[in-house]
Amino acid sequence: MIEWNEGLSLGIKALDDDHKKLLDIINELSHAISNDEAKKFIESIFDELQNYATDHFHREEELLKKCGCKKLDEHIKQHLIFSKKIPDLKAKFLLSKEPYNAEEISFFLTDWLFNHIIEEDIPAITMFEKCGLTKEKKEKSNFLTKIITKTTNKFSFTRRILLSALTPLIGMLLFGTIILLNNYNKYEDMRKTSAITNIISNIDELVHTIQIERGLSSGFLTSAQDKFKDTLNVQRTIVDMATNEFLEKIKTTEIKNIYEIQPYINTFKTDISSINKLRKDIDGKVISQARTIDKYTSMIGNILSITPKVAFLNLDREVSSSIATLSSIQHLKESLGQERAFGTMIIEQKDATLKEYITFTRLIGTQKAFLSTFAHTASGSQKHTNKMLRDSNIAKQVRLYEDSIEIHDFKNLDTEIWFKSMTTYINKIKLFEDELLSDINILIEKRINDTIRNLLLWLSFTTAILVITLSILYTFKKSTKFQIYQLTNAMKDLATGGRSLRLSPIHVKRDELAYMYDAYETTRQKLLKGDIYTQLYLNKKEMEIQSHQRENVKLEVMAFIDPLTGAVNRRKFEELSMQELERSNRYNSDLSFLMLDIDHFKSINDTYGHAAGDEILKHFASICLDMARSLDIVARVGGEEFVVMLPETTIDGAYIFAERFRKEIYTSEVTVDEQIIKYSVSIGIAILDNDKDVKDILQRADKALYKAKESGRNCTIVYK
Ligand code: GH3
Ligand code: MG
Ligand code: MG
Repeated sequence: MIEWNEGLSLGIKALDDDHKKLLDIINELSHAISNDEAKKFIESIFDELQNYATDHFHREEELLKKCGCKKLDEHIKQHLIFSKKIPDLKAKFLLSKEPYNAEEISFFLTDWLFNHIIEEDIPAITMFEKCGLTKEKKEKSNFLTKIITKTTNKFSFTRRILLSALTPLIGMLLFGTIILLNNYNKYEDMRKTSAITNIISNIDELVHTIQIERGLSSGFLTSAQDKFKDTLNVQRTIVDMATNEFLEKIKTTEIKNIYEIQPYINTFKTDISSINKLRKDIDGKVISQARTIDKYTSMIGNILSITPKVAFLNLDREVSSSIATLSSIQHLKESLGQERAFGTMIIEQKDATLKEYITFTRLIGTQKAFLSTFAHTASGSQKHTNKMLRDSNIAKQVRLYEDSIEIHDFKNLDTEIWFKSMTTYINKIKLFEDELLSDINILIEKRINDTIRNLLLWLSFTTAILVITLSILYTFKKSTKFQIYQLTNAMKDLATGGRSLRLSPIHVKRDELAYMYDAYETTRQKLLKGDIYTQLYLNKKEMEIQSHQRENVKLEVMAFIDPLTGAVNRRKFEELSMQELERSNRYNSDLSFLMLDIDHFKSINDTYGHAAGDEILKHFASICLDMARSLDIVARVGGEEFVVMLPETTIDGAYIFAERFRKEIYTSEVTVDEQIIKYSVSIGIAILDNDKDVKDILQRADKALYKAKESGRNCTIVYK
């Protein structure tokens, strides 16, 4: 009885039920055959199997057709082969005289059924699933599984691993690039600022020279003699040189690219182009002192407005405030320059107009505003320097003059002293300005270096991460791929009967792959065990068959061997002697027969008992069998009568054999129940002489034996 194994189920109810039903019929058939049921009944089971198989094939072919099976023809071919095989089996069973082996039929049919399921139907499951025939499996794939399948089925397993690791890496790289760009922009800004700072230093220089020219022009216009004329001319050359230098500087592309300051530069250019006209007016003294100061002041104001604009350009707070600090000091210095001019005018005239006083006071006011801006943005050390400057003697001197002018006390005031004091003070501020400018330069340089360092740091960090991640990924991918290939090959090997590939996981840690290796190893061991058991079972079966066969041989031998003496019995002797007779006749070879009879055996029985007689028979036969060759036959043909057939033996050979045997018997003693028994034998010999029947030869041998008995026994007589 072979039971259904659930592993054979396809998940399609109709086909699974069919297969189960077919197995039931096969089981029923072999049961009926082995129980030797009526032939008619067995015939009806054969018919049922035939009909059910045909129906099943029909159903299966319909489903295969429905799902567009490409191997449909092959399936149909196999089905036809089987359909023809059942009537063959049935005929064989009916014709067979011996009861037909139930095991053989059962084995053939179940083997066919299981092969049909495993080799043909199971490989078609994927097709049935796609076709929607296996309902249970369809229900399991919910929305999430569908999305997962859709998004992942485009990529191989190792690619999926690669992607999941690369995605955050790409994100990180993007982030890194943004930071890099940001740093690069900062670097570019710093470069711009550096270029502008370069101009600021020129502006500083230029403003300073124009301020001096303004002072000298103002002096020249008020003095009766031309005492300022030469100095003024020298100063004008200095201004021109500074202007040219400035104009050269602003020609560079870096400056041209800073659009925000272009309007101021243009204004400066217009201003500077009108300076010659102003100078001519001054030389001809056709312009008033106040107007001259105004013109120069407006020019200076225009140039100075470039610096705060630059401060707003910059992204770096510290650099911006440093420029703002510088700008406030530049304006302060300019304001002091104007104050110097107005102060000179007021002191020289002793009593100036109201407008000039207002300008003078306003200038002092704006200076306070510039200082408060300075205090906002300056660093601690800058504030300290400024304080020192403010507390210096020269500053005190200036303040004394300012106070006296404000209260219109001109008694102790001297234009020269005022001008010199102011100039010294302004020069000191100019030095401070230079210091601030150099601070800015240092700061910008530091910023540029920082930015470059950041850039390099980011670049090397990102490259390092990229290289490390890619190498780890590559190694992981390689090792995973290798392990999967190794497992796949090992499993293929298992499927084709290989059991020798013992795999152990590469990694010490227990991971998913290690579990797969475990599963493989368990399967291999199970299959190996199965193989060994099957082999053992087959071995056992073979041994059983062999012992069965040996038993049969034994029984067969027993059927033609005399149990008491071990000699061949009469029936077998007749069969064997006839065969030998035919053979000898055919090949014209010699064949001798000895007829032997123990002498006075009756009296041995009578004297020593029947059992002793048996012992004598055994002794007699064993000596005879020992002496005979393997091709000779020793047969017991009567109670104490034996025949020895000697193939390929002449009459002389037979005589020699007979005499040797007779003498051996005569000289030997048999001990039975402590009594020594001696006995003898009479022998008659006959040889094949174109006889057709063994009986004829034996008759002649018997005659010779009779003669031997008559001649007094214990002798050999050859028939003549
Ligand atoms: P002869 O010398 O003329 O051959 O005299 P004999 O006594 O041997 O001849 P006979 O044929 O008169 O006697 C044969 C006896 O052998 C008769 C029978 O009781 C005995 N006998 C036959 N078969 C067996 C047997 O299997 N065992 C024993 N113990 N005796 C047997
Ligand atoms: Mg006898
Ligand atoms: Mg006898």
